[in-house]
Amino acid sequence: MARTEALKALQKTLTARRNELRKRLNGELANLSGAANASGDAADAAFDNIGEEINSQLAEMEAKELAQINNALLKIKQGNYGVCDACGCKIPVARLTALPYSTLCIKCQRESENDSSFLTDHGILGWEGVRDYDSDREVRLSDLEAGFRD
Ligand SMILES: [Zn+2]
Repeated sequence: MARTEALKALQKTLTARRNELRKRLNGELANLSGAANASGDAADAAFDNIGEEINSQLAEMEAKELAQINNALLKIKQGNYGVCDACGCKIPVARLTALPYSTLCIKCQRESENDSSFLTDHGILGWEGVRDYDSDREVRLSDLEAGFRD
């Protein structure tokens, strides 16, 4: 299968997964806030509710996956999906199929695992950094959602 065809197929998979996650997150956030309706405000209320630690952690993980998917879909739109963030090489389709959110080739992935400063050296914000960002509550679901509207 040609690379373009493979990327198109991945885009479909990612879009379907995104829709599924958005649906689930809406439901979970509605439960968290105790609200019967899942409005945009539910997200804010949910993340302010520390008592629902476990559920909100689950929602946070899904929100993070959603952000990764969004990032991948954005890259597809911009035409730089499947290009390694660090070295700029083309990430093999086989790797993308296994890990559709890959932003690094295998070589750079390994280097980033062995060298904790690899990502920052290449000007890439690792997920570690995103997690810190989340805890400051500067990234909220409502903000993420805003980026999803086509
Ligand atoms: Zn690379």
